[in-house]
Amino acid sequence: MKSPSQTNAIDFDSAKLQRLGFGQQPAPLERPISLAQLRQQLSLQLQTSLEPQRILGLFFREIQKLVPLDALSYQHTSSDLRLELGLRGRHSISYSLSHEGEHLGELVFRRNQRFSEKEQGNLESLLSALLYPMRNALLYRAATQSALRDPLTSTGNRIAMDQTLQREIDMSRRHLQPLSLLMLDIDHFKHINDNHGHSAGDDVLKAVAASIKNQLRNVDMVFRFGGEEFLILLSNTSREAAAMVGERLRFAAQTEEYSADGQSIGLTVSLGCSTLLPGESAESLLRRADSALYVAKREGRNRLAMAG
Ligand code: GH3
Ligand code: MG
Ligand code: MG
Repeated sequence: MKSPSQTNAIDFDSAKLQRLGFGQQPAPLERPISLAQLRQQLSLQLQTSLEPQRILGLFFREIQKLVPLDALSYQHTSSDLRLELGLRGRHSISYSLSHEGEHLGELVFRRNQRFSEKEQGNLESLLSALLYPMRNALLYRAATQSALRDPLTSTGNRIAMDQTLQREIDMSRRHLQPLSLLMLDIDHFKHINDNHGHSAGDDVLKAVAASIKNQLRNVDMVFRFGGEEFLILLSNTSREAAAMVGERLRFAAQTEEYSADGQSIGLTVSLGCSTLLPGESAESLLRRADSALYVAKREGRNRLAMAG
């Protein structure tokens, strides 16, 4: 009988992994490889990652054993993914990857020499090794992204914000660069809901999020902080520069006409701005932006206040 604590462990030591084709670098002088061998190696190697970049990088490196290439580009529009490996070449072959009706991206192989029929056949055969790993990677990417995103406005959610804020604070310290934060709140948003209905309110929230993202260089740094409140992280941005961004956002909100249910709706926003102090925590940086926002509200709204 098995004892309850027994575990069945399989230890893949590095020699074994190497034999299975999981080695880091190919040996410099290798024997020619057959298509069947390469396909088998590829299918083992590609399933070791869920990152599209890594999978395509491995694929690009490995297929050169049979079909030398100058470049590989990949695009999957619906997940906003675009990758370029290598340099451009004069000749190209494109493939649209799909599996059971599911579109898995467009691939373009490039090089300066023309592709022979045989090479084209090899490429097509090797592509099948990419199918399942890419499908898994795309699914995984979609899942992790939706876990970090506010579904209404497609801005980052609180989980994303916590992660990004801490990362940006660490980066700012390491590179001795300033980091600023803007807390933005729609003025009298309750009136918009009251006057036009909650679903019109939702449309306005979406539009405000879109207009904030429109004004910024890095759209990955906008987060929905609360109901009608957004947080904008400005990396490598001083207090003065952050004030200018804040003013630009305030002005854009005031100028833009939002529409919901065919009616045009005007609105303004208030903002609080804080800039990271030496040794300051994420909580404190947030608290100071929030206090500044409170001051902006108290002083009449449609304005930006700087944290002291
Ligand atoms: P102030 O200028 O002081 O910020 O006034 P306000 O009305 O914007 O602020 P208050 O905090 O009193 O109200 C915020 C409102 O935002 C109340 C809430 O119903 C609404 N709200 C929060 N989340 C959502 C949402 O997801 N959709 C819609 N339509 N409304 C929301
Ligand atoms: Mg408000
Ligand atoms: Mg609010």
